[in-house]
Amino acid sequence: MRVEIVAVGTELLLGQIVDTNSAVISQKLAEFGIDCLFQTRVGDNLERIVSVLNSALDRNDAVMVCGGLGPTQDDITREAIAQVMGVKLEHHQDIEERIRAIFAARGRKMSANNVRQAMVPVGAQVIKQRKGTAPGLICPVRGKVIYAVPGVPHEMSDMLESAVIPDLVSRAGMTGVIRSRTLRTWGLSESALAEKVAPRLEALDAGDGRTTIAFLASGIEGIKLRITAKAESSAVVDSLLDDEERELRSILGEIVFGIDDTTIEMAVAKELVRLGITLSVAESLTGGLISARLVNVLGASDWYRGCVVSYASDVKYKVLGVEVGPVVSERAAIEMAQGARRVLQSDMGLAITGVAGPSPQEANLVGTVFVGTSSEKFGDRAIQLMLPGDRDRIRQYATISALDWLRRILSGGKASTGLD
Ligand code: ATP
Ligand code: MG
Repeated sequence: MRVEIVAVGTELLLGQIVDTNSAVISQKLAEFGIDCLFQTRVGDNLERIVSVLNSALDRNDAVMVCGGLGPTQDDITREAIAQVMGVKLEHHQDIEERIRAIFAARGRKMSANNVRQAMVPVGAQVIKQRKGTAPGLICPVRGKVIYAVPGVPHEMSDMLESAVIPDLVSRAGMTGVIRSRTLRTWGLSESALAEKVAPRLEALDAGDGRTTIAFLASGIEGIKLRITAKAESSAVVDSLLDDEERELRSILGEIVFGIDDTTIEMAVAKELVRLGITLSVAESLTGGLISARLVNVLGASDWYRGCVVSYASDVKYKVLGVEVGPVVSERAAIEMAQGARRVLQSDMGLAITGVAGPSPQEANLVGTVFVGTSSEKFGDRAIQLMLPGDRDRIRQYATISALDWLRRILSGGKASTGLD
């Protein structure tokens, strides 16, 4: 089975947006062992879209189009596909009703333009929209198939998973079940991680091939390890995934902070809930980034008290009670954590202070960061980090490193510097 991805949109050609959809789609295809030998980008022009679709069909078994399904005049993917199929577009009343209902639920009136989204090439099957307003399409043509999904990334992903991949898998006559699970890690470089996992990779290579592992570097959010298992039934696949997760966790220990969509702040939240304690934060160089991540977590009000953004030194002294003196130090980080704990009345305080640059401060180099915590259960602790990158990167790294350090303290493990 060979699939070509066609991303539609003049913005893509002008470089105004980056074609992340094609990357997401090809990753998914690879995971299922479906070949993708071409990725094409084309502007919002009927003639050129038709021509690209025709050549894509000539050299592949299936074509996956994303974008251009919206309600405006430049959204012409539907028309182009109808032309390639040699059929007309027909109006589907049920789609129109559904779009109308989505608008009504938001207290808005559907505009006449949106009726365009209820037009479907004759003979095409509709992929029901769960998010957004444009339905997707499965269009049989010349014994092959064109899939069309919206350009909006989360709508695209949703339809890719729920409709396109299952349809491709059944067309390819693949039997069995393929499923993945991703271990999220923080604290080891990709090469160090690869070294630790190497024996496991060799063992799997020598095994029955039902389980595979892949590394996915995701920059600032740590490194992901994806386990993929293939077997005759869901139950067997799940137990293969469970077995491999157990193996990898025993090798990697506490650098694994969760699986799949778990974020580092969710991992922190889980520990706080388990311990039944509340948290408050004092932030200097991150200016509220840690707090913003914590309140991302649903139900944060159960354990999160708040944050003092103590950017200026005298705010650290006056509001948090830090002793007058250097503010980029272990002592200041601990006193800030104690201050946040006292002022905001929480069981635990987390604090961060450091130099994001561009200039050094108090003779500390750019990238010097101190993280402190204060609590009855775990005492008062601080670590020093040296973080790489420019101002923005340092602040992002500092945020994740502080959250990860807190996670490790809460889980009773040994503290790390967050970067090896
Ligand atoms: P809509 O119903 O929102 O108009 P659509 O199917 O017409 O959806 P487009 O208008 O092409 O899709 O794109 C909508 C938005 O989705 C774009 O503004 C862009 O932000 C994003 N988008 C589109 N194509 C891509 C792509 N290939 N990669 C990443 N993002 C994309
Ligand atoms: Mg659009």
